[in-house]
Amino acid sequence: GGAAEPPPKLVLDLERLAHVPSEKAGPLQRYTATIQSQRGDYNGKVLSIRQDDLRTLAVIYDQSPSVLTEQLISWGVLGADARRAVQTEDS
Ligand code: C2E
Ligand code: C2E
Ligand code: C2E
Repeated sequence: GGAAEPPPKLVLDLERLAHVPSEKAGPLQRYTATIQSQRGDYNGKVLSIRQDDLRTLAVIYDQSPSVLTEQLISWGVLGADARRAVQTEDS
């Protein structure tokens, strides 16, 4: 704990996400489509999501938030600074 930097924004690259095979990315593609629909935010190339949503997605993917974050970084869907979002909580 202690006073820390704010967590990095989780900004998903929707163009990259669209190119990940759907047998891997399908749940995330459906999740982001739902958020876009709820916000009425259809035209973005990126989508900012809640820190809590990463936790929810980790449950959906049956992985820890840090393993899922590494996967999203390897797909190019999240930037490397997203690692800090899970580090600040795991440490
Ligand atoms: P809600 O959670 O009751 O939020 C109502 C409104 O408060 C949102 O309308 C938005 O204008 C604002 N709001 C809430 N949290 C934030 C935030 O962290 N940042 C910003 N900039 N605004 C916030 P909006 O955008 O039309 O969303 C409607 C509903 O759609 C939300 O109701 C929520 O149920 C769902 N939703 C939208 N985006 C997300 C998301 O990224 N994650 C999740 N889990 N739900 C979302
Ligand atoms: P930022 O958060 O660094 O976002 C930069 C640009 O990325 C945004 O420019 C927008 O083109 C895109 N972007 C980021 N997240 C989303 C998203 O969830 N959906 C879509 N469609 N595009 C997204 P934009 O819209 O001109 O906003 C410039 C700056 O204004 C943002 O920089 C942020 O600092 C502020 N801003 C805009 N909307 C919100 C908001 O709902 N909440 C807060 N707190 N700041 C906002
Ligand atoms: P943001 O709009 O810059 O908000 C940054 C953080 O401020 C949020 O992180 C959340 O902790 C807090 N916050 C902002 N607005 C609200 C609110 O209305 N209610 C509550 N309870 N907290 C609020 P968080 O949740 O990790 O969200 C990260 C980013 O995801 C937000 O940055 C925004 O760009 C996007 N986002 C999240 N939820 C919504 C939503 O419901 N609608 C829209 N349009 N954008 C959202």
